[in-house]
Amino acid sequence: MIFVTGGAGYIGSHTCVELLNAGYDVTVFDNFCNSNPEALKRVEQITQKKINLVEGDCRNRAAMVKVLKESGATAVIHFAGLKAVGESVEKPNAYYDNNVVGTLRLLEAMQECNVKTLVFSSSATVYGDPIKLPLTEDHPLAPTNPYGRSKWMIEEILRDLYHSDHAFKIAILRYFNPVGAHVSGLIGEDPQGIPNNLMPFVAQVAVGRRDSLSIWGSDYATPDGTGVRDYIHVVDLAIGHLKALEALRAINSEKMNSCLTINLGTGQGYSVLDVVRAYEKASNKRIPYQIAPRRLGDIAACYADPKRAFDMLGWQAKLGLDEMCANSWHWQSNNPSGYQQK
Ligand code: NAD
Ligand code: UDP
Repeated sequence: MIFVTGGAGYIGSHTCVELLNAGYDVTVFDNFCNSNPEALKRVEQITQKKINLVEGDCRNRAAMVKVLKESGATAVIHFAGLKAVGESVEKPNAYYDNNVVGTLRLLEAMQECNVKTLVFSSSATVYGDPIKLPLTEDHPLAPTNPYGRSKWMIEEILRDLYHSDHAFKIAILRYFNPVGAHVSGLIGEDPQGIPNNLMPFVAQVAVGRRDSLSIWGSDYATPDGTGVRDYIHVVDLAIGHLKALEALRAINSEKMNSCLTINLGTGQGYSVLDVVRAYEKASNKRIPYQIAPRRLGDIAACYADPKRAFDMLGWQAKLGLDEMCANSWHWQSNNPSGYQQK
């Protein structure tokens, strides 16, 4: 049984599909602060399997102890957290409380229940402004906002915990830019309010929910002047979590390092204009856009060196930008208002 915090969210729901399809039992623990239980009904529809769903908050240690014990969980995948960079600048306490305190309570609950295998959602934002590209895992860490610092703090906590107790097996996964949706079109990204991220914004322009895209800056030192990122299909990312679980399980000696830090990206950077063009092709819609000033805090380019993931997990991304856009469009056009059917 795998205990999945935040399993109703965007990446969590896609990972539940892969876990269930691979034969794992799944318990989702989520407070639905940024998700809808409908996502998990859809996961059950896709997989024809049942999820054990418990509504609860990761800052509640006792609630997690109860569920960990009752479900017989042997490993945890920890997605639960807040993730909006701008909001984290406005409300840093809320971010440190939810992300850092929530993780501490989870680690206490795991120790109490002797569950010591953990896959954690970190982020490429821990690197900050890249000094050298592609980003390798040993690149210095210099997050530039409270969200990124909360991830960096949790990483440090996990490394300290492992240092104190080598029975822990931990995979810290640094995601690049997750996009796309499950091929069924039944689950996908469903941001609340105006999307902060590029692909969900483009998707909403394509489906007619928004008039046009603002491209934040066309004067970066990149091939076409717009920002470059390493977009990774959410299904590839979900599979990366299974590979990480399997890799941790295969470590059978406390003498081997079982605190792994791994980038999950494709290694390929695409510009904003590349994404716009690929989305136009996938949706057969025109995406009107205008060039706007740079977004505060944005960097020119960011992409992964994914070699360690291949060497340690035997994982590499398989799906390209065309599939990311096609699957995003399938989800968006079938569910123009996300999970809130209107
Ligand atoms: P999401 O918001 O869709 O999912 C997070 C889930 O956690 C939601 O279902 C939310 O309701 C739940 N949650 C939040 N706080 C909780 C709490 N205290 N207790 C219980 N449940 C709680 O986000 P996502 O895109 O699926 O991201 C999952 C994880 O991956 C997050 O930790 C995020 O920081 C990290 N991450 C995301 C991205 C990205 O671009 N999507 C990139 C890098 C890292
Ligand atoms: N971007 C944009 N318009 C938008 C949203 C994003 O031009 O409405 C650009 C942004 O400046 C960056 C890229 O798209 O160059 C990816 O942005 P996103 O927020 O998705 O990811 P992040 O910057 O966090 O890596």
